[in-house]
Amino acid sequence: MSYGYNGNILHVNLSTKETLVEHPEEGFYRKYCGGRALALYYMLKEMKPNTNAFSPENLLIFATSVIVGTRAPAINRYTVCAKSPLTGAQGESEAGGFWGPELKMAGFDAIIIRGCSEKPVYLWIKDGQVEIKDASKLWGKDTGEAQSLIRQELDDSRIRVALIGKGGENLVRFANIVNELSHFNGRNGLGAVMGSKKLKAIAVRGNNKINVVDPEKIKEVTRAYAKRVMENPLSKGLRDNGTIGFISGGNQEGWLPTRNWTQAGFEKDEHYNIKTFNKKYLKKVESCYACPIACKRVVEVDDGKIRVDRMYGGPEYETAVTFGSLCGVDDLTYICKASELCARYTLDSISTGVTIAFAMHCFEKGIISQEDTDGLELKFGNKEEMLTLLEKIANREGFGNLLAEGSQRAAQKIGKDAEKLLRVGKKQEIPMHDVRVKTGLGLQYALADYGADHMKAAHDPFFANKDSWGTKEMGGIGIYEPVSPTDIGEKKVILFKKLDIYWSLFDILGICYFGWVPRGIGSLEELLDIINSITGWRTSWYELMQVAERSINMARIFNLREGFTDKNDTMPEVFYENLKGGKLDNTGAIDKEDFEKAIKTRYGLMGWDEKSIPTKGKLIDLGLDWLIEEVERIE
Ligand code: SF4
Repeated sequence: MSYGYNGNILHVNLSTKETLVEHPEEGFYRKYCGGRALALYYMLKEMKPNTNAFSPENLLIFATSVIVGTRAPAINRYTVCAKSPLTGAQGESEAGGFWGPELKMAGFDAIIIRGCSEKPVYLWIKDGQVEIKDASKLWGKDTGEAQSLIRQELDDSRIRVALIGKGGENLVRFANIVNELSHFNGRNGLGAVMGSKKLKAIAVRGNNKINVVDPEKIKEVTRAYAKRVMENPLSKGLRDNGTIGFISGGNQEGWLPTRNWTQAGFEKDEHYNIKTFNKKYLKKVESCYACPIACKRVVEVDDGKIRVDRMYGGPEYETAVTFGSLCGVDDLTYICKASELCARYTLDSISTGVTIAFAMHCFEKGIISQEDTDGLELKFGNKEEMLTLLEKIANREGFGNLLAEGSQRAAQKIGKDAEKLLRVGKKQEIPMHDVRVKTGLGLQYALADYGADHMKAAHDPFFANKDSWGTKEMGGIGIYEPVSPTDIGEKKVILFKKLDIYWSLFDILGICYFGWVPRGIGSLEELLDIINSITGWRTSWYELMQVAERSINMARIFNLREGFTDKNDTMPEVFYENLKGGKLDNTGAIDKEDFEKAIKTRYGLMGWDEKSIPTKGKLIDLGLDWLIEEVERIE
């Protein structure tokens, strides 16, 4: 009997309409565990290098993990992987919500999708049975309507649906996938891959219980965890104010990205007042599966002009900053509307907001004019134009069609120095965290194989001094020495090597960052107890960290095969300049030479050569000897 996992991986070919269930051995589950590690295994084994992201040969993989689906707290996430149409690299994104646990309870650990349907379809998975169903009537519908129609057709309101809106259907290169209308697999265009396969949705329903070895231990840890939620400021703050509650603090500290990163700090701080937001917009808080924290926001607006539907949840930190200070917009009603539209159409809110801010910056600089923008006056702060442009991107209409390619491709077409205004890492628009005040995150922006992402490691302030939560709680994986958030020396590189591996493990196992150390209230000891109580493996941090390191090496090799090199491990030039405006005015520039040296040091720590190619010894050590020939071909 297997514990924690089903032993079933579903393969679906949308071209031939064939399905097949694979039953890997326990050793496979122990070596790859789920998420990105499992997905990369199939991507490297079954995809040829330089596969077009929109071709039938691109694999679209949905993977849960060996521990998702029990009632253990804040362990509910799943991963989607494919080659990214935005970056051309390994694409990857994790989402919370309810879909991952439901897939496990429906009898599958992962779904590997290949091929391309001629007509729109959706997958219907229930208790081990799989059907490919016609989705012609759903194509073109917003996510809310499509989800309702699927539930009506299948006559079950408890079905969980992961789906795309018109952003994915129209192959916007940063389209995402959403489940429960407000939990996103965002960033690198995996919704567009789904659209290219004419796959509107995957609906799942399961009645099976996940077998675990020690249910009593899981209950004991879960009860103790739930007791602490309202006592600990980390979880209480998230529950009371969500991630949007952090914005004003960042602004007052002097680093909030503003007007396409030309300023650090937004003069309209009152606009981000969390008390006003909670009073005026917040209708309720929601949670993901089996999480007592409940950090998700639900907003509603109807001011006669703008109506925001509460079924699409509400803005998180990133969305509120990209459509707020980054575009120079000081009206939360418009930010809530932008957030709703991104959920309706499945557009990544970071890439959409950053791309619009980039276009506004080009307009302000005279690089583009109203002749280029379909008559839109794209000045910073023009909130009506911001929403109009968002709609145009989703519909690939006029100027929106150019921006739907992502800001880097748009800049290349626009020319005239537009590229100088880009804020991207591996063609992916950067998130709303200024790495001049947290340099370790800068390393992660540069090194992330799936493009710059704020979820690639814990952030530096959790290790700032000896009393910081991360420094105090993470001795079990060798982290106990504080490092200044702005340090970029060897100590920082060592810290972030460990954090990168640890965070990758979270992605593999489906663990929410907000629930466990260093960002949450669950301890390392409790987490290991949970993993062992579910699987019965008597595993260790050593074994688990090796699983994660394996995935990092596989991602690197996938990208090397696609032509990426050490030259792609960069971050935007703006971070080598001082912050402008705000409390930190004229300070903060990262020394480029120091940063590049840190990147090379990191390669060494990972067992990679100067060009970031994993050494043969490292691959053997990680049990990846099956990739040695692949690496030799790259060299
Ligand atoms: S902390 Fe928030 S995002 Fe994480 S599982 Fe709980 S509700 Fe979901």
